[in-house]
Amino acid sequence: MSSLAYWIDASCDQAAGGNFNKYIDEARHWAGRAAAKMRRPSDTDFARVFNVLFKTPVSDNVPFPPPMLFQRMNDFVPENHWKSLPAQVHRVLSDFANNWQRTTQRREADVRIYSDFGKRWRQLPSGEHIDPINHVLNLCSDEEDENGDSEWSELWAGDAFVSHELPGGLPIPGEKHKRVVIDICRSAWTRQAQLTPGRPLRSLQELVSVFGPNVEKMNIDRIGQTLIPRLIFHEMMHSVCYGLNDHDTDGMGTAGWQYCMKLKKGAGATGAESLAYFGLWAALADARPAGQPRGGFTMHRSWDKIPGDVDLVPEEEWDSDDYDEEEKDEAAATAAKKVDAGKWNSKHKDNGAVRGEIKFYTDITK
Ligand SMILES: [Zn+2]
Repeated sequence: MSSLAYWIDASCDQAAGGNFNKYIDEARHWAGRAAAKMRRPSDTDFARVFNVLFKTPVSDNVPFPPPMLFQRMNDFVPENHWKSLPAQVHRVLSDFANNWQRTTQRREADVRIYSDFGKRWRQLPSGEHIDPINHVLNLCSDEEDENGDSEWSELWAGDAFVSHELPGGLPIPGEKHKRVVIDICRSAWTRQAQLTPGRPLRSLQELVSVFGPNVEKMNIDRIGQTLIPRLIFHEMMHSVCYGLNDHDTDGMGTAGWQYCMKLKKGAGATGAESLAYFGLWAALADARPAGQPRGGFTMHRSWDKIPGDVDLVPEEEWDSDDYDEEEKDEAAATAAKKVDAGKWNSKHKDNGAVRGEIKFYTDITK
């Protein structure tokens, strides 16, 4: 695959109060570590992380359909080209780690990143919005509901979002055709500033240096939802070459560990947030507080079974036209009930992994 390019707007450095590119380097480092660890047979700890996160053993070799969003953004993938879920996850991780470079030429960039808090967006008469610099549309509308909220205002209330619809779908001379724009919103920076005021955390190791052994007392979400590299990782997974999705779950949003835990086999491995957390767990396994010669942080080990009570629901079924809306809702409700009743409920007393507990172990591979 040819190399991919990202471009950073000056607004990102400004919002970050420094070199924004370090966040991207960190996210890509996590991806590389996760790709390496999942292929190491002796690392039974990381195999457990894979299993819990993707509801699939890392050795699974059953061919599985690629993400529907990927197929819509690119091409339909015939069944004889399907790869196993672990192979798909590995491909995305190693590609993100190795296949990107920064460019100073915005028009040739596959991904363009901004944190200008909406300055360049213009509203169209249709209610949709256009980024006139990158010629990209965002279909969320400004139309307010009875509470005065709109899709557009909700987007900006989140941490970040991507836009990739092209006006008319037509190529523009000199402009990369399959382009994605990432906007990083204010709340992402605010949350980071709250955890370590006055000290931006550009890497997981910096966080471990600040909190030391107390990282064990933090929940994976406190770290995941604070670190900008996790956010970058997530948003990059929406780029055209990966086409990973945000799967709807019953009103849980599409971020956070509890959201990842709700995803069934198939949805996890095609979900942007799940891969971002997989990268974060890999980085945690490498991280040690000062004075610790061995070991690392990982998921609570009291749980490492594949959940028998969660059905395998290939993503295809959810998006297929063969299912009408009512059938989809019914299937979703049944699946949600099964999760709530089973050990994948975060309140289950044995399941520290699902609750997002972090433990330090001196042997990180067991
Ligand atoms: Zn997303």
